[in-house]
Amino acid sequence: MTDIFDNVILCRKCGEEMNPIKLERNGFILRALECKKCGSRLLHPVDESEYNKFIQLKNKTFRVKMRFVGNSYAVSIPREIVRFIKEQEKVMDNMVKLCFSNSKKLSLVFGKEEK
Ligand SMILES: [Zn+2]
Repeated sequence: MTDIFDNVILCRKCGEEMNPIKLERNGFILRALECKKCGSRLLHPVDESEYNKFIQLKNKTFRVKMRFVGNSYAVSIPREIVRFIKEQEKVMDNMVKLCFSNSKKLSLVFGKEEK
């Protein structure tokens, strides 16, 4: 299957050929096209819809219970989140990194961390 970005796409404003670029937003690498003349940008529709799904999840707060398991506490990660991560990572590792972001906030890191 050919990708839409394999075609020559012209800028709507000035008719110049747009060049492929990569944009980084919230850890996502988005494929985009940019017009060198006027700076117009066009996000790849597939990447844009994935990114929008992420923004919807990001704006949501899930309330989950802590359960006592052995000497530790366990929290469940809602299916919606797991499904999204699986789509992104293709294979989900059983190991995640857990660390404090600040005194009241814990972070879970899935997959490889950039930077
Ligand atoms: Zn242009």
